[in-house]
Amino acid sequence: MTDTLLPPASTLPQERRLVTELPGPRSRELMQRRVGAVSAGVGGTMPVFAERAGGGVIVDVDGNSLIDLGSGIAVNTVGNANPRVVERVQRQVADFTHTCFMVTPYAGYVEVCEALNRVTPGDHDKRSALFNSGAEAVENAVKIARSFTKRQAVVVFDHGYHGRTNLTMALTAKSMPYKHNFGPFAPEVYRMPMSYPYHDGPHSGPEVASWAISKMDKEIGGSSIAAILIEPIQGEGGFIVPAPGFLQALRDYATQHGIVFIADEVQSGFCRTGKWFACEHEGIVPDLITTAKGIAAGLPLAAVTGRADIMDSIHVGGLGGTYGGNPIACAAALGSIESMEVDDLNARAQAIGDILVTRLTDMAARIPAIGDIRGRGAMIAIEIVKPGTLTPDPDLTQRVAKACHAEGVIVLTCGTYGNVVRFLPPLTIPDSLLLEGLDVVEAAFSAA
Ligand SMILES: *Cc1c(COP(=O)(O)O)cnc(C)c1O
Repeated sequence: MTDTLLPPASTLPQERRLVTELPGPRSRELMQRRVGAVSAGVGGTMPVFAERAGGGVIVDVDGNSLIDLGSGIAVNTVGNANPRVVERVQRQVADFTHTCFMVTPYAGYVEVCEALNRVTPGDHDKRSALFNSGAEAVENAVKIARSFTKRQAVVVFDHGYHGRTNLTMALTAKSMPYKHNFGPFAPEVYRMPMSYPYHDGPHSGPEVASWAISKMDKEIGGSSIAAILIEPIQGEGGFIVPAPGFLQALRDYATQHGIVFIADEVQSGFCRTGKWFACEHEGIVPDLITTAKGIAAGLPLAAVTGRADIMDSIHVGGLGGTYGGNPIACAAALGSIESMEVDDLNARAQAIGDILVTRLTDMAARIPAIGDIRGRGAMIAIEIVKPGTLTPDPDLTQRVAKACHAEGVIVLTCGTYGNVVRFLPPLTIPDSLLLEGLDVVEAAFSAA
């Protein structure tokens, strides 16, 4: 159990150490209690309970030290127990925990908005609003775009993921498990083809975009579209990086028809890809950008940031929420953003990406089931197929992930066909630990 005499979690030994089988006896006991207390509808990747975490490891309740290649789904970009976050959060929690920004505002909220307006793409005048989760940010971005344009249609893409609330389920592509049995879904959502280079054969980014644009023109009409909503690199859909020119063609179409172009950077944002935001790799400046996950080291915070004329067009009181921009979450965000800037985490993400791609490329030469290696920075994935084909192999993917878990390496899967293993380590992971994790991944293919 946590003991105040322990050294800070940020100084945990950076090692993989298995002292029991996984899950160990205390995790098994907690799993039993979980089954009796927690809804079975809440998913689970690993039956191992965390006790402390920092750098690139998570230490479980049995004393096993696991290598973290998932960052709690792209959240702990600055690492768990990052001292800059811990210090600011501890100070804030002792000062006050909540007043509601809409009732009695506080500086932290304003400072986070200033930072967002500064680090997001484009040097135009910007405003931000803060919320609690990625889904809530996406919902609000759609509300804002509809109100600003006085139009209703929202365009999304194949393989897209935008959350689990009613509107964001409608925006999300994949039925099982996100939407199954949960309808009816919100109307006026239109799904377009996505550029997916590994599966698109010879078709270029602009070519796939022209299919989407032609569909938009014919099936909706450009002048009826409020927003084009897209992840510049898709997360849950399989770390799909659209071919060059795809995003730019959509951006141009949006400009031409007065459509609000929304980049959902909830997963790809905040140094994950080696730039502050993934759309910068393509030189895209969105009208609105949604952020969450990496923003505040795990404290619940999300944001919509964008053009001042759009953000300020909303009637007073139209945006908000009881907890949105909670002061402790804002303190964590300011500590995280400070760490990203001072510790140059964009450079670190690029270095991690180089290690990942080099090692995975080497691995793929021996493992024909690795069909594709893709992503940017510390957001890299492998797509697993039947050798020599493009046919997904979700069974092998699951077996590989389970074999990694059994050896104390936390990896996550994703993809519309469940055949993608994604690597998104905390940017505080040491190289040696990352490489050891990848050795375990290679061994897992043999075991599976
Ligand atoms: C995770 C995610 C969301 C939803 O965020 P929550 O905080 O889980 O509501 C939305 N969009 C993208 C791209 C995501 O990866």
